[in-house]
Amino acid sequence: MRKFIILFLFISNFIAPSNGQRCSTDELYEQHLQEFPELAERALELENNLQRQIATQAGQRDGVITIPVVVHILYTKEEENIPELQVFAQLEVLNEDFRLLNETVPNIPGEFKSLAADTEIEFCLASLDPDGLPTTGINRVETTVETIIDVTNTKSGRRPRALYTELGGADAWDTEHYLNIWVGEGGQLLGAATNIAVSDFLPEEDGIVIDYKVFGNNCSFDSSNPDDPINPYNLGRTATHEIGHYFNLRHPWGNCDGDDKDFVDDTPRQASPYFGCPSYPQMSCGSSDMYMNFMNYSDDACMSMFTQGQKERMLATLAGPRAGLKESVGCALLNAPQPFSDEAILVYPNPAVNCLHIDFNAEIPGDIDVEMYNSLGQVVYHIVESSRNFRSIDTSKFANGIYFVSFRAAKQTITKTVMVMN
Ligand SMILES: [Zn+2]
Repeated sequence: MRKFIILFLFISNFIAPSNGQRCSTDELYEQHLQEFPELAERALELENNLQRQIATQAGQRDGVITIPVVVHILYTKEEENIPELQVFAQLEVLNEDFRLLNETVPNIPGEFKSLAADTEIEFCLASLDPDGLPTTGINRVETTVETIIDVTNTKSGRRPRALYTELGGADAWDTEHYLNIWVGEGGQLLGAATNIAVSDFLPEEDGIVIDYKVFGNNCSFDSSNPDDPINPYNLGRTATHEIGHYFNLRHPWGNCDGDDKDFVDDTPRQASPYFGCPSYPQMSCGSSDMYMNFMNYSDDACMSMFTQGQKERMLATLAGPRAGLKESVGCALLNAPQPFSDEAILVYPNPAVNCLHIDFNAEIPGDIDVEMYNSLGQVVYHIVESSRNFRSIDTSKFANGIYFVSFRAAKQTITKTVMVMN
């Protein structure tokens, strides 16, 4: 096992050196295992409980579960102090990915379509903090911690500084009732999640850590620059992947023979991780691989789905060790749905580079008429579409300058001003 991990680390670093290491969850677990040898036994016990839960929960449903999230933004320089919109955009990505509503769903190959799952899990930024006080769910902390993702040896009792206020980072909020996400400079690492068993030993470190450059929905990466650190991981799916781990999902590869290491029946056996954007089909272990699964390492644009089996595993985790999240009142003050108003429509990034994303935070009945025009009043884009299906405008061919985007629905018009800077 150890040999495999070391070999794999070598391979993953070798394949994707310029973009950072996709996921450090396995190494983090290895470190915790060294620190707490009894962790292995606890993990096995939790796995047995989980399998029992999966067997009994079939057909039973709680309806949609909403997970309260707190985002700790740790910054040493201003660019790391990411704007609120980037956080909103990340939440939107999570809600689309976990509810099978993302733009890449139509790309799922036919043989896997019936396995793709709406997990019925959603996320909200916490509206009440652990003391019951109103909050934005965003905790900004100026820090001296240079890299927040720390998977080096903690056996000596040294703690990852980013996760502790007294060490210059930010303390977790009650990890039983909130999903804690720490965002900041990751160095060469993009993200990591704690194993479910770790929460018994180190509850104060339970959650996910993620590099600020891959947090949110950053369509404005420089696609012509192969060294752009954001490049293939720009659509917020590092967080989707890490939260998959947080809900007990494993990587689906390395299991051609013997035990099915991800404990999920409907993810095909797969020899090794996929990087980049593979073309269909890809074969290993004698079957077609699900390289578009969120738990793979493919580029963000080429990921599309969790499976029904992964959904069962996540829901079983929410019925067991993470049940506190379901009982949390962290989202109790959720705003009522807003009417069709200026605040109900988010457009980002602004300035737009290559594309402009649109999020609607209101239920807009019927179709919405979207028009984008330049400062001369010339229409450069027009579509009439349900707000549920409308997500983004490709601005890569537009001349740089100021534009106006108007949204017409329910006899109202909302206009937003945006800059295009390709
Ligand atoms: Zn991973």
